[in-house]
Amino acid sequence: MIDEGYIKFNSQLHQTPPPSEWVVEEVNTWRDRMYALDYIGAYEGDIGYGNISVKSDLLDNEFIVTGSGTGNIPILFADHFTRVSSYSIDDNSVVCEGRIDASSESMTHAAVYACAPEARAVIHIHSRRHWDALLNKIPTTSDSAAYGTPDMAREIKRLFEETNFPEIRVMAMAGHDEGILSYGTSLDDAGGRLLDVLEGRYP
Ligand SMILES: [Zn+2]
Repeated sequence: MIDEGYIKFNSQLHQTPPPSEWVVEEVNTWRDRMYALDYIGAYEGDIGYGNISVKSDLLDNEFIVTGSGTGNIPILFADHFTRVSSYSIDDNSVVCEGRIDASSESMTHAAVYACAPEARAVIHIHSRRHWDALLNKIPTTSDSAAYGTPDMAREIKRLFEETNFPEIRVMAMAGHDEGILSYGTSLDDAGGRLLDVLEGRYP
């Protein structure tokens, strides 16, 4: 079942200019690699999957994330990014600024940033092959937690508290078909670790 591409939280979008070019360029270096590997892309019916976010050192509760429904777009431009300026996991709500709603998985990204103050980047990909191989072998969220929900956000918190997720920094989502997520202190860190785990170089 494809459970992807629609926003499950209450999203409030303020129409503002998109994030600056350098952010776009930085994210696209990894986004292009993920897209080329089909880790970000689209299912039949043009339903996009996969998303990336980055957070600056200066802004505590803000991050910039690829927009909703952009997984199927080969090359992203500034208008495809949005800034999440505040969020509430308990209220299941996200406030964002840009030209496009935040990725449907923004709540999940927010939960990672909330649990790991050192995190500066989150990458969420889909891969049938790697998901099958890694499920329950690396930190794995409950199969009852669907993507983009407060349940998933709470599961992330549980992984931080009860598993070696803070060490391995890659996890699988049992309740989100093909879903895998990594984080790091930079995009290179998050992307490098993700590829290391997928390709069996770590742990
Ligand atoms: Zn997903």
